[in-house]
Amino acid sequence: MIRLHDKLFKPFLTEKQILEAIQRMAQEIAVDYKDESPIFVGVLNGAFMFVSDFLKAYPHPCEVSFVKLSSYHGLTSTGIVETLLDVPDNIEGRSIIILEDIIDTGRTLQKLVHIFRNTKVKEFKIASLFYKSEVYNGEYAIDYVGLEIPDKFIVGYGLDYKELGRNLREVYQLNQKHMINLVLFGKPGAGKGTQAQFLKEKYNLKHISTGDVFRYNIKNGTELGTLAKSYIDKGDLVPDEVTIKMLEDEVDKNPDADGFIFDGFPRTTTQAEALDNFLESKDMKVDATIALEANDEILIERLLERGKVSGRSDDQDVTKIRNRFDEYNSKTAPLKEYYEDRKKFHSVNGIGTIEEITERLTKVIDSL
Ligand code: AMP
Repeated sequence: MIRLHDKLFKPFLTEKQILEAIQRMAQEIAVDYKDESPIFVGVLNGAFMFVSDFLKAYPHPCEVSFVKLSSYHGLTSTGIVETLLDVPDNIEGRSIIILEDIIDTGRTLQKLVHIFRNTKVKEFKIASLFYKSEVYNGEYAIDYVGLEIPDKFIVGYGLDYKELGRNLREVYQLNQKHMINLVLFGKPGAGKGTQAQFLKEKYNLKHISTGDVFRYNIKNGTELGTLAKSYIDKGDLVPDEVTIKMLEDEVDKNPDADGFIFDGFPRTTTQAEALDNFLESKDMKVDATIALEANDEILIERLLERGKVSGRSDDQDVTKIRNRFDEYNSKTAPLKEYYEDRKKFHSVNGIGTIEEITERLTKVIDSL
């Protein structure tokens, strides 16, 4: 096993297996292109090692070039693909063979096809060292494949996990244990925090309440606390950039967790998208969003009761409570649709005894 940042990876392919696959690909392509000098175009950064070994194995005259796509911008509104390193000049009438390190869903490939569509090349082919056929959903058929691999996150031989691992000669697979990641959803006072206490014990999960983290920071007079206080005191949401960064740090602090309960996060669509992207980058995902439903009058009663005990300023004033509900209705409620679209939304009646509600939540979680 090796550790890169917070994750463990186990050996998956040896250097020998990789080089043999490349040898086969080079032979196959050599047969098809022996009578001309094709241009091999490597896709940076991941393909640099593959391109190097491939060229050493390719027996006939050929040229080499590289492209680098911007991974964040994708298609701009003008339909132009953002490239950081553009297609080579003088490719008119030439045969282009793209050398990709890995093809999974096919998003990058789609961008590549788009870039080359408007060039007058003779032929355009795709060769990928690794290919996740289970998840590929592009229209373009891959012309040459080195090794078909299962849909597991891999590193090494040019591929990285947060930029580490590219220098490894072998390929490693993420050693991912089974995780459950839950979002508890509901208005202030719905019982998210109370229920999280029970669920975290039962399922051995790490509970992250963004409200609690803010309050901890306020109590300790940190910079983050000072920044958040003015918003929280009014019952407004703290800005997304601040909250997202804070949440990511909390997750990163717990690399060995069996899963997380997110309580009070996400509260906006931007936060939900950020959470999905962040978890995806760690080969994790939200398994379910469970909403605790209760009507406003009951919630106000509960919050005022809690305010007497906890001393929370935002729980002691009906105007502030109503403002929190308004924030919820305008910014957080749309997330119901976001998670429904992804078939992850579950609703639970939040009125009853604590035990009854835990029971309802447990039923949903056990059915996942
Ligand atoms: P809570 O304890 O979840 O009711 O949160 C208390 C307050 O912390 C909220 O009213 C917001 O001001 C702030 N807060 C907590 N979580 C978030 C979030 N995800 N986004 C923005 N503000 C938040």
